[in-house]
Amino acid sequence: MSDWTELDAFLETDPADVGCDEAMRILHIYVELVASGEDAGARYPGVASHLRQCGPCSDDYEGLLGLVTDPPSDGLRQSLIKKLRGRW
Ligand SMILES: [Zn+2]
Repeated sequence: MSDWTELDAFLETDPADVGCDEAMRILHIYVELVASGEDAGARYPGVASHLRQCGPCSDDYEGLLGLVTDPPSDGLRQSLIKKLRGRW
């Protein structure tokens, strides 16, 4: 009976997980909250949940956070953020 396998898979998925599209849509906001010391996970629990479970999105998050928290200069940081926003 495959019904139970599907049910198990469903139950193991965090219901708060917003999925890749939504996570990518607000990732730059999430990263800016984290970078400024806000509790981003409390404001966007669905995104926090997704980043824990999705490798590719987690990689994007780490990369973007690295850019924002360790910027070469303020001007470059702003232009990078603008570029990334355009991408999403
Ligand atoms: Zn994802």
